[in-house]
Amino acid sequence: MSRRAVATINTAALTHNFSVVRQCAPKARVMAMVKSNAYGHGLQEVVETLKDADAFGLAHLDEAVQLRDAGCEAELTLMSGFYDVSELKAASAHNLQVVVHEPTQLKLLENNPLPVKVWMKVDTGMHRLGFAHDEVARIYQSLKALPHVQLQGVMTHLACADDVNDAHTKEQLSVYANCMQQLPDIPVKSVANSAGILAWPESHADWVRPGIMLYGCSPMMGLTGVEHKLKPAMTLSARIIAISDCDSGDAIGYGATYTCDAPTRVAIVSVGYGDGYPRHAATGTPVSIRGTLCPLLGRVSMDMIAVDLSNMEEAAVGDKVVLWGEGCPAEMVAEHANTIAYELFCNMTQRVRVEYA
Ligand SMILES: *Cc1c(COP(=O)(O)O)cnc(C)c1O
Repeated sequence: MSRRAVATINTAALTHNFSVVRQCAPKARVMAMVKSNAYGHGLQEVVETLKDADAFGLAHLDEAVQLRDAGCEAELTLMSGFYDVSELKAASAHNLQVVVHEPTQLKLLENNPLPVKVWMKVDTGMHRLGFAHDEVARIYQSLKALPHVQLQGVMTHLACADDVNDAHTKEQLSVYANCMQQLPDIPVKSVANSAGILAWPESHADWVRPGIMLYGCSPMMGLTGVEHKLKPAMTLSARIIAISDCDSGDAIGYGATYTCDAPTRVAIVSVGYGDGYPRHAATGTPVSIRGTLCPLLGRVSMDMIAVDLSNMEEAAVGDKVVLWGEGCPAEMVAEHANTIAYELFCNMTQRVRVEYA
């Protein structure tokens, strides 16, 4: 049996998590965010699984075209729109919705009378994408005046919704509300990412845009998915390929950064940064063996990690080791590697075999 790392995608967990979104925001339509290969979970498979979503959000044109070529007829939205005429043409030809967030895009729309569905994006304080709040009324009118443009709504994005105590979110919501009041009619509105859905009901509006919660992780600081009744959609596992008994004073792995302070049973596990397991995962990062959490020891290699078996002495060569997912929250692993679960999922490499269950 191959000892390669395997990512098992639990499609029932995906649909369960989608139902949590519906429960949290029962009145809103749902744009499921599937950019970056559905956060590493497999674009086509996730879109097929989440067929009850009202639309899907993508970062790049080629992801959307890939879905169209595979026969997907769902509403697809490009979150940063188009960058030139050829992309605008492709968006129009493939019936994609585009987010327009800066003036050159507006020019391209004015100069190319192609039928296209447009979301307008407003910067309410994140200072990433979007028109400035004092330009909103003017741009909105310009878009409305274009007969070939079907204006879908006005969206914004929250910068700090993962922290329930951060005043920034209230400020952004109030800037957004003021912008909307300046418009001649009431547009369709969209604000909430997963954190907005879970922690800021006042941000739900007409469309919510869940990403990470669909995959079973909490976007909130210090919480994990189970605390929102979410289920991990991805479980990354590998196998124990060797076990050795180290003495007190023995150093483990590259750089000899960890030294045993007592006799220690050590398992070598067939996963490493070549699979996307984070090289910066520190000693103490949890893995799960036979349902028990055991700590990583020393540096992550390309193909292997070392794990302390003190909590699970009876583990044997060939045992399955969960790196994140069921029994080992990705949020916890991410914290030990000084990153976020989003990045763990997106960084998984081609070497990992992906299975759907
Ligand atoms: C990625 C993204 C989301 C989803 O964010 P999560 O934190 O994963 O829920 C929502 N809106 C926009 C514009 C995004 O780019």
